[in-house]
Amino acid sequence: MIPSVKNTTFLILIIFGFLFFLFNANILSLNYKNISSPKQIKSIEQKVEINKNSHKSKVEKENVIKDFSYNDYKLQNKEIIITVKKGQTFLSILDDFNFDNKRKFEIINSINKIFDLRELKVNQKINFIINNEEKVKKIIIELSYNTNIEINLGPKIQIEKKQLETFTEINSKEYLITNSLYADGINNKIPNQILIKLIQLFSFDLDFQRDIQKNTKVSVSYEKINVKNKSESSFGDIEYAQIIIKNNTLEYFKFLTDDGFIDYFNREGKNVKKSILKTPLDGARLSSSFGMRKHPISGFNKMHKGIDFAAPKGTPIYAGGNGVIEMAGVNGGYGKYIRIRHNNEYKTAYAHLSSFKKGISKGVRVNQGEVIGYVGSTGRSTGPHLHYEIIYQNKQINPLTLKLPSGKILKGSELERFIKNYKMIYANHLNNLFE
Ligand SMILES: [Zn+2]
Repeated sequence: MIPSVKNTTFLILIIFGFLFFLFNANILSLNYKNISSPKQIKSIEQKVEINKNSHKSKVEKENVIKDFSYNDYKLQNKEIIITVKKGQTFLSILDDFNFDNKRKFEIINSINKIFDLRELKVNQKINFIINNEEKVKKIIIELSYNTNIEINLGPKIQIEKKQLETFTEINSKEYLITNSLYADGINNKIPNQILIKLIQLFSFDLDFQRDIQKNTKVSVSYEKINVKNKSESSFGDIEYAQIIIKNNTLEYFKFLTDDGFIDYFNREGKNVKKSILKTPLDGARLSSSFGMRKHPISGFNKMHKGIDFAAPKGTPIYAGGNGVIEMAGVNGGYGKYIRIRHNNEYKTAYAHLSSFKKGISKGVRVNQGEVIGYVGSTGRSTGPHLHYEIIYQNKQINPLTLKLPSGKILKGSELERFIKNYKMIYANHLNNLFE
């Protein structure tokens, strides 16, 4: 008889439900001895594994089958996995196992030498390996997806930080935007971490509200990092991304540059991230930097949320980056003021202007380097200067320490290496999508 999908789902739900009950109700509140027979726990574990495997990718399945030594190990020992709950200490977790007080403190002291147990986090997993004599012989604390602390409980306690073996695979997805880049990405099973990186990557070229229309196609390849003998995985870099906006195909290829930076370039070897100008005028002198200072007019100590460039009245001011004018007008102490929206995350603002360039008003598109206005001393100002702000996620940040990408163009041997590289990335991407 072939079980129907409905029945299988029901079965899975029951198993998870039971497990949830068991882990919550029993393991933490009762003494380990009283829980249940070893056989029961083992059979539950195996059921869960079967369940998990059915969701795993091809690569992971192969890995589990090949690893005989691990399976042997699992059969000889029993494993209890504790998930740390709010307010729970490591000591209170040890209380549920059959250690005497002296042993408990020996264990805690030895772990504290390499890991501060106060830093144990909610939902962190601790595995207790129990041998067939019902003794805990090993404790494994999972520090991160690929790092464990292993505590071997022999006559002498041995403790070791272990880097787990990982293998990276490339996953590729393609989808049409019907709602939003993010929401449709989630619906197409693209991990959250990758979508956030994708949005950051696109944000230098796109204004999501303006540029993305229904049925915009997005294509992406990214690293999935699997850990040997663990179902958990992590996600690495985006290898390739593509978005087609109004018949204009934007492409981003990951590349490790000669100077050791991972960055993204288009097929021509041009860094696709556009930088925002740190100095949006020529021949200016930095006269006041970002941070706390005594305000020259009010005399109070105040946070200076921009940088000031002293320059003669009438000096042209350039748009810091491509974008749309969000405001151009008088704005309180800022005097004559312009704010440009560059993308979802970045804006720049220009204050104390003497006048605006003709044609500059709300809603107008400007390109990086284009003149938008002229230095002045309007608003609360002691002399002609430009007050310049870079706003990231609606908060002013220090333009001078901002690490913006350089807008590098690859040449010579570096370009040759890049071309070989991107052809491989692209072939892989297509292969993954259409295999
Ligand atoms: Zn200022």
